Amino acid sequence: MTVSKRAAKATEESLHRIFTIPEAPDSTLGRIEQEMSQNLTGFLGDHIAAKEMALSEIEKDFACSQIPEQPTFVSDHMHHLLDKLVAQSVHTSSPSFIGHMTSALPYFILPLSKLMVGLNQNLVKIETSKAFTPLERQVLGMMHRLVYRNDEPFYQEWMHSANHSLGAFCSGGTVANLTALWVARNNLLKPEGDFKGVAREGLFNALKHYQYNGLAILVSSRGHYSLKKSADVLGIGQDSVIAIPTDENNKVDCQKLREKCQELTDKNIRVLSIIGVAGTTETGNIDPLTEMAEIAQQFHCHFHVDAAWGGATLLSDKHRSLLAGVELADSVTIDAHKQMYVPMGAGLVVFKNPASVAAIEHHAEYILRKGSKDLGSHTLEGSRPGMAMLVYASLHVISRPGYELLINRSIEKAHYFADLIEQHPDFELITRPELCILTYRYNPAVVQYLLAHSDKAGQDKINSLLDKLTKYVQKRQRENGKSFVSRTRIEVQKYQGRKTLVFRVVLANPLTSNEILVDVLAEQAELAQESRNFLPKLLTLANENE
Ligand SMILES: *Cc1c(COP(=O)(O)O)cnc(C)c1O
Repeated sequence: MTVSKRAAKATEESLHRIFTIPEAPDSTLGRIEQEMSQNLTGFLGDHIAAKEMALSEIEKDFACSQIPEQPTFVSDHMHHLLDKLVAQSVHTSSPSFIGHMTSALPYFILPLSKLMVGLNQNLVKIETSKAFTPLERQVLGMMHRLVYRNDEPFYQEWMHSANHSLGAFCSGGTVANLTALWVARNNLLKPEGDFKGVAREGLFNALKHYQYNGLAILVSSRGHYSLKKSADVLGIGQDSVIAIPTDENNKVDCQKLREKCQELTDKNIRVLSIIGVAGTTETGNIDPLTEMAEIAQQFHCHFHVDAAWGGATLLSDKHRSLLAGVELADSVTIDAHKQMYVPMGAGLVVFKNPASVAAIEHHAEYILRKGSKDLGSHTLEGSRPGMAMLVYASLHVISRPGYELLINRSIEKAHYFADLIEQHPDFELITRPELCILTYRYNPAVVQYLLAHSDKAGQDKINSLLDKLTKYVQKRQRENGKSFVSRTRIEVQKYQGRKTLVFRVVLANPLTSNEILVDVLAEQAELAQESRNFLPKLLTLANENE
């Protein structure tokens, strides 16, 4: 054999090996796998560096554009990943990481995910996902029942019906919202006479046929940005998503909503959908859903509830009444990868009427044939992983009462933290938690006093200094790597609706203790003292006033 022939044979053999022979248990990869499965949190804690590196530094490790010409041993590559990637990853499961909706996962998720990836089922069609397709339909049925509470015969009739869907499983809340609005749009602008429907003829012809001057989607000013993306993709346009002001509790003002519906109708702009938010991303508040449903009915439009974050609250008998009226919605978005503790890539939308998805039905010759039970005929996404298995498993392992405990604890913890903030003289609670999200800021007692006794111009000056201080503290805290809260800018009624920078906290990690919350405040107060610019200026203002 020539040298090149031998090399080719060696390559072929190693290619065969990577598909057939697992790494030995005593290899680097084998040991890492074992460590991860024994104690994932410990493993992550050991390998994620505490100190944060500048993004521009990290980028240098990911700068080369050439695809390697030389293969690497898996174990060697694993070392590379641990050093370059894992070390600078964000420790989202840390109990002191309380800034975003991504939190810890139950331990059983890891082996189950491995099984899911190993099976590599494609949910677009039955031919690649027998058993997974019925499972996903069952999960959608369970979630549908959680929202709409129909009786068992209803589910027996529709759960596995080929031409119906109780919902659509997808990668997250964004696609779930888009799917809901897609269904709403196609049902509104449906075929009629010679007109073949918006799905076939497009929006221009649809508006001409129905003689509308445009479409609009109405949601509170706390609505999620995914709604604008959806309006953009659906051809309705981002500017047609109309923000309705909220009251002091971040809930949509129904009077203003009704007025806007009337105003648009008078201009011959058709309201496509009214969207209630059940758990706003920034403050966790829930819109008055029952009243919104009435308005939607009055104006004959689709009523969607974006419960991507708050939907899981329905699992708590104690708190589910917070979402009263959700059962009146035509469609509801829920993210399992938020408060259901499933890894990312698990969103869903359920439809009150199982026949409504017919409006987005698609067929192809080689799959998704008419009358088939292929899920892909009613989903935006094509190839899709078997994430529903992880939701299914979690619903069984944790069960409804287990979820109730998790939800109740998170809400209690948020109330505890809110009390802590209110009792601290140098912190100001901005939004009181309804679910487990709250916002606040560092604001020394003397400055709070000054704010309360200043005119509008004085308040603006103080608030803009406080904004800078909030930003400074939040950044320093993140860089320190001990704990993390996020920051956002929201209109605060108390300051005449001024957009104010605040800390945002999401208390969903069951391992976050009260002590950690005490420490977070202490650390923030300490970091504020280190601000050489903004805090002294604020204190000077306060002193001048005395
Ligand atoms: C998170 C969230 C979304 C978007 O969900 P993704 O899973 O990030 O796509 C939409 N709406 C609300 C209210 C959310 O909290």
